[in-house]
Amino acid sequence: MKMKPLIIVIMVLSISGCSWYGYKDPSNHHFHRVNNYSNAYTLGVQNFTTNETSQKRLNSVKEAFSDVQDIFLNNKKFEKIILSQSWVSSCDGETIEKTSGKELLSDLRALSVKVSVYPKKPWQAIGLTDAINKRMAIDPSRIDLANKDEIIDSSLLINTTAHEVTHLILDENNLIKYRDEGHGKKNCLKNDLASYRVGKAAQAVWIHDKLAK
Ligand SMILES: [Zn+2]
Repeated sequence: MKMKPLIIVIMVLSISGCSWYGYKDPSNHHFHRVNNYSNAYTLGVQNFTTNETSQKRLNSVKEAFSDVQDIFLNNKKFEKIILSQSWVSSCDGETIEKTSGKELLSDLRALSVKVSVYPKKPWQAIGLTDAINKRMAIDPSRIDLANKDEIIDSSLLINTTAHEVTHLILDENNLIKYRDEGHGKKNCLKNDLASYRVGKAAQAVWIHDKLAK
């Protein structure tokens, strides 16, 4: 019984901090560009070790970020989907916030991505983005799916990456513009949120283009 408060403190600390437990901060030399674009997405790779599995994961992550950047900037089908309607940017405030397709597309295209990737499963999630500290945790089992033969599996990392990258967009107050919180309330389904729709749209066009080759 004497241990109870200590146990509770440890539990609270581990729940709130466990997603980033063991995360290492990057130095300048840890950043890798994912493609040859002048504004190429740039990843901090210091949390990938030199072993074969970890290097394979790093390559999958780099490829996914490169493909997502390509889709956001150049894919006409993705553009058509995003421009076709307005999107729920968040529903964690008093009202459901909406953003036009034009604004969402321009936010995605203007985004400069420099983020550290942490290949570790976040607390109760597949991916987690800390836009303020510029870091992103991704479940290694999601990363490993990129090497599956079935395209429905191998495309899932594209969905996760596009979703998480959307969380890096900040508003004029430097707050995350496209958020996840609040779904389930005010008739706002998780699936309606822009971040989820961007993930699914990117996955869909990625599958289409792979099959067309
Ligand atoms: Zn999210």
